[in-house]
Amino acid sequence: MPEISTDLDLAVHYLKDGALVALPTETVYGVAGDATNDKAVANIFALKKRPEFNPLIIHYPHITFMNQDVEITELAKKLANAFWPGPLTLVLPRRQESKISFLASAGLDTLAVRIPSHPMTLQILRNFGKPVAAPSANPSSKVSPTSAQHVFDSFKNNPLLPLIIDGGACHVGIESTIIDLTVPIPKLLRPGKITAEEIKNLTGIVLENQSHSKSNPKAPGQLKVHYAPHIPLYLNCTAPKKDQALLAFGPHIPKGAAYSLNLSPSGNLNEAATNLFAMIRLLDNDRYASIAVMPIPKEGLGHAINDRLKRAAQE
Ligand code: AMP
Ligand code: MG
Repeated sequence: MPEISTDLDLAVHYLKDGALVALPTETVYGVAGDATNDKAVANIFALKKRPEFNPLIIHYPHITFMNQDVEITELAKKLANAFWPGPLTLVLPRRQESKISFLASAGLDTLAVRIPSHPMTLQILRNFGKPVAAPSANPSSKVSPTSAQHVFDSFKNNPLLPLIIDGGACHVGIESTIIDLTVPIPKLLRPGKITAEEIKNLTGIVLENQSHSKSNPKAPGQLKVHYAPHIPLYLNCTAPKKDQALLAFGPHIPKGAAYSLNLSPSGNLNEAATNLFAMIRLLDNDRYASIAVMPIPKEGLGHAINDRLKRAAQE
């Protein structure tokens, strides 16, 4: 059974030992392992039952440490200045001399890198002194975790995860925005907290949109089924049935559902993103036939929320 703890030295000890540790980040909880250790990386895939063609994001405490693994292009510097530490992942050309496990990057000649902003995890990364590979700490294709308890619930019987660092609830609540900088026009691979509009306003960089695909190896996080609860989830619901659980948004809630939770009674998209995965987990109960989700505005952070919901939903 994993220990839930706030002992950062213990986390460093386990990472040095090649073991996995669940860490808090501002986006969601991650399961971290030494990114240069093939065995540790293999255990991440095994723990999550994650397909091995789906590469991992490599996390660093500071941009200077990244230089040994990836080429920090001019656009990368611009984006780093504007948004790091923070919920932005950049796909960059991998350096030949990089010691990152090829399993972590699914054999690609690129690496996805990020500096998270959670102070506990930054401290662990600094003390560990090596990058960690850290995907979300949930079984592959299931709902992402935004608390230490969520991680515990998923892996309480799994000896591959001895430790969960409890850093409280994740305040962003959905995964990082991913941008591919290895193509001629920077491409948005995954929408997230940092929107294309913000990126344009702060850096002048205009992104090309990535269209969803079932098996594009450049953006495996874009697999169509992801974030899925156990019971079906339906989108754009305005008239819930009496056996459904309603995931509401905004001040005007339709009547009729068996039970409902509101992502943001005031209609605030930041609040909705923070609550998204935790509320899906709470409604994911056999007591209900399915989860009905109210329409979420397709603007700003709403793009990322709709992206996650679409892939959590039934066709
Ligand atoms: P997760 O850690 O589960 O949130 O997913 C990480 C996502 O990062 C992957 O599913 C990919 O979409 C993306 N990613 C990681 N490495 C690369 C890479 N080298 N090129 C493109 N996308 C990547
Ligand atoms: Mg994930």
